[in-house]
Amino acid sequence: MTAPPIERILFTEEQVSARIREVAAEISLKFYGRELKLVGVLKGSVFFLTALARAIDLPVKIDFLAISSFGGDTPGMVRIAKDLDDPIQGEDVLLVEDIVDTGLTTRYLLQTLAGRAPRSIAICTLLDRTVRRMVQVPVDYRCFEIPDRFVVGCGLDYKQLYRNLDYIAVLNPDRG
Ligand code: 5GP
Repeated sequence: MTAPPIERILFTEEQVSARIREVAAEISLKFYGRELKLVGVLKGSVFFLTALARAIDLPVKIDFLAISSFGGDTPGMVRIAKDLDDPIQGEDVLLVEDIVDTGLTTRYLLQTLAGRAPRSIAICTLLDRTVRRMVQVPVDYRCFEIPDRFVVGCGLDYKQLYRNLDYIAVLNPDRG
């Protein structure tokens, strides 16, 4: 296989899985004795969500939604393109994100899901890039803070590629 156009690895496979286990342990403790519904955002959060779900020591349900942006280059202009299969009313919901960047997507999803009367709703993200935040969102659990560089791997893509890298890397800016 040709090597992906990577500038540097930020977090290795071992670091990612160790950190996911830590965060999963925190979540398991926090929701001890309860069921948890993990809500993933397609497609970026799929790899993280499945790893997290397997490491959480609770009865877990999973569901997915997909969003699409309609504002061209305007960040945060998103709508739900594929909705959840089931209601979340009365459930403890954990919104699972690949990355919280400006926060606009997460804020939109949080508001939308909160309107469906879950028992509780919390946010868990693999990556957090707080330097680019435009709106405040309550990130309850995060695996890693990252610098202001475009990253791929562990679900994150560049033109739909590189989601399956098992590490998180900065993409080479000279990529073809
Ligand atoms: P936000 O609304 O927080 O600005 O954007 C979140 C979405 O932007 C993420 O779910 C992800 O799809 C995309 N995104 C933001 N930063 C990156 C990045 O560094 N790499 C990749 N692959 N996607 C990113």
